[in-house]
Amino acid sequence: MSHYDLIVIGSGPAGRAAAIQAAKLKHKVLVVERGQKVGGVCVHTGTIPSKTLRETIMNLSGYRERSFYGRSYRAKDEIKARDLRDRLRKTLDYEVDVLEHQFSRNRVDTMFGEAHFTSKSSIEVIGEDGERATFTADRFLLATGTVPFRPDYIPFDGEKVLDGDEILSLPRIPRSMIVIGAGVIGVEYATMMSALDVHVILIEPRDSFLDFIDKTLIQEFTHEIRDMGVDLRLGSTVTKVSTDEEKVHVELENGRNVSAEMLLFAAGRMGATEKLNLEACGLETDHRNRIPVDKDSYQTPQSHIYACGDVIGFPSLASTSLQQGRVAACHAMDHPTLKQSPWFPYGIYSVPEMSTCGMSEEECAERGIAYEVGIARFRETSRGHIMGLKTGMLKMLVSLKNRKILGVQIVGEGATELIHIAQAVLNLDGTVDYFVENTFNYPTLAEAYKIAGLDAWNRMPNLDLEK
Ligand SMILES: Cc1cc2nc3c(=O)[nH]c(=O)nc-3n(C[C@H](O)[C@H](O)[C@H](O)COP(=O)(O)OP(=O)(O)OC[C@H]3O[C@@H](n4cnc5c(N)ncnc54)[C@H](O)[C@@H]3O)c2cc1C
Repeated sequence: MSHYDLIVIGSGPAGRAAAIQAAKLKHKVLVVERGQKVGGVCVHTGTIPSKTLRETIMNLSGYRERSFYGRSYRAKDEIKARDLRDRLRKTLDYEVDVLEHQFSRNRVDTMFGEAHFTSKSSIEVIGEDGERATFTADRFLLATGTVPFRPDYIPFDGEKVLDGDEILSLPRIPRSMIVIGAGVIGVEYATMMSALDVHVILIEPRDSFLDFIDKTLIQEFTHEIRDMGVDLRLGSTVTKVSTDEEKVHVELENGRNVSAEMLLFAAGRMGATEKLNLEACGLETDHRNRIPVDKDSYQTPQSHIYACGDVIGFPSLASTSLQQGRVAACHAMDHPTLKQSPWFPYGIYSVPEMSTCGMSEEECAERGIAYEVGIARFRETSRGHIMGLKTGMLKMLVSLKNRKILGVQIVGEGATELIHIAQAVLNLDGTVDYFVENTFNYPTLAEAYKIAGLDAWNRMPNLDLEK
């Protein structure tokens, strides 16, 4: 039986960052992974594949060039499922290669198999061939992520009715698709498919969607995706899903029925904790199988067991999981030097993409914060003209009390890259003066910050910040 300083269960972003951080602090670390390769949901079914798919679709469809050459413009005439899969495989292989190299360079041991606790300080790992091995450790870090929620009333078959993981092995590109769930994953896949000219019906039971994003942006986004042809149905509860030889049929509570060649169910994910036998180590989960932790240290109620990444819930991003992994490992190894900055960006790789950092206008209003708004449209920037952008906007919220930036929300080309300027200014406690006083590269989309900053600044009382 081998003993480790730290055993990490799961090799996604949280597990990988934690393992490498602990190894860099000269500790003996084991990573256990039940998948066939390291990388987690992030590399194999989530972030990287969906973003590779998006990039491939944007390139092959010629979507970015359509404002110049017309809506019927295509870079490749007939796009097949194989075209999408080819690039996917290359990107994923490369990611796995980098990761394996990172583990070996940092002398992190890896073990493939499913882990479960046998006591508070030991786990058993069952390999694919049924072989069993036991390990003990001083500390454990649970980074087991999530699995798609698959309710009984959805007749999943991996061909016509798919969950969020199965869509990556799309057997063919359908002519029509129903997407259930207008959360981040549903919206991303629905708009990607629409960019491929698939007729998409996006169904959401609530009357609104992506509620953490500023309403102005959502209005802009909704207008754009409807213009693309997405049939967005809010306030529509699904009562029945059935299939026949050719189609999937969905019955809605409001009496309306819809049919399509394929259905993607993208309404939620559950913590992947069922196989961990957490009773053996004295831990419990919530109703969605997630593990509660202290949000500063990532310690569970069992102080030698840590948990981070998607298995602890919000915000469930690869970006935040990486940082949580590092923070947790430092804490576990008595090196509590790393902290997390308060503001992190949220990126939604829909078509068009959206990204936010800080507060939305609704949040400022709710908290009773007096603010001014600055808006810039991408078409006001020279870079926007060059790129042929007809849409896209940046909205900046500025405190009327001290001119500090409260939040920035962007919809349009490059939003997920551009947001990092806002993130830096927010976390450094900067004011709108930063944007007003600094020179920006020209022509760039980043100039939108200057335009929005001036827009807000010109309407604000001139505060003397020295007093
Ligand atoms: C479609 C989709 C798109 C996404 N897009 C983005 C995006 O654009 N940006 C972003 O920041 N985030 C995105 N995410 C979220 C991101 O993928 C996750 O936040 C991230 O993967 C979480 O990392 P993690 O380390 O917590 O777990 P995961 O990446 O889920 O990895 C967990 C690993 O643990 C393993 N495991 C589970 N149980 C056991 C066990 N008992 N024994 C051994 N191993 C086990 C699993 O096999 C898995 O490999 C997306 C997610 C999805 C599904």
